[in-house]
Amino acid sequence: MSATPVSHSGFPAARSAEDIARNLAAVRARIAAACARAGRDPAEVRLLPVSKTVEEARIRMAHAAGLSEFGENKVQEAREKAEAMADLPIAWSVIGHLQTNKAKFVARFAAEFQALDSLKLAEALDRRLQIEGRSLDVFVQINSSGEASKYGLAPEYAPAFLRELSALPALKVRGLMTLALFSADAARVCACFRLMRNLRDRLHDSAPDGVTLDELSMGMSGDYEIAIEEGATVVRVGQAIFGARPLPDSHYWPGGAP
Ligand SMILES: *Cc1c(COP(=O)(O)O)cnc(C)c1O
Repeated sequence: MSATPVSHSGFPAARSAEDIARNLAAVRARIAAACARAGRDPAEVRLLPVSKTVEEARIRMAHAAGLSEFGENKVQEAREKAEAMADLPIAWSVIGHLQTNKAKFVARFAAEFQALDSLKLAEALDRRLQIEGRSLDVFVQINSSGEASKYGLAPEYAPAFLRELSALPALKVRGLMTLALFSADAARVCACFRLMRNLRDRLHDSAPDGVTLDELSMGMSGDYEIAIEEGATVVRVGQAIFGARPLPDSHYWPGGAP
């Protein structure tokens, strides 16, 4: 393993279309390099740009730079952006914790939901999707760090949860998602990603009907290179493309960097 976690303060600002294109090219080069180190084909790794707190004008610049999907942590912000940019062919991925009473919004506009971690929420989403006549790609969020503060299912509950999900026809389970430990210690970050890779591999061949587990969504601006070396198929990258965020991570998940 040669990548190390990056501190969360040093991301280059991106105010113009040129800045965004430059940052994007740098991220893609790093993805390609991580793939080369791991003997992987870069086409196996999907870059999901995360646009939370990024205002409409800069998302439009990013779209003009060739990006056509964006991840958002909060459903209200995602909804507002989806409406404001309904003129663009953008696929919105909701990647943050969702309250059951907001399932109806995700069922309406989202192309994907990556933070599924309770049966109650899954049932609410399935019911709402059926009303909308839609289906939705979902990822099951796993707590890979063992921190009590993190969202996601404990790994040992994943098999039973997948069986329950297979009974919900509007949910198309694609894989697992996690946030690794926030640490400058690469070995500890790496351990979270390995746990995910092993869990996915173990569940893959015995996945219940209607559930596929090809995808592993793991890695963010600070640790996506490590995640790729450990098998990520989706990396969720915000600040390395759009610049450092004004809001601390603790606004988005419990226990995030203050
Ligand atoms: C914000 C966020 C990311 C991206 O974090 P960056 O540090 O901006 O790369 C990834 N996953 C989730 C769930 C997020 O909320």
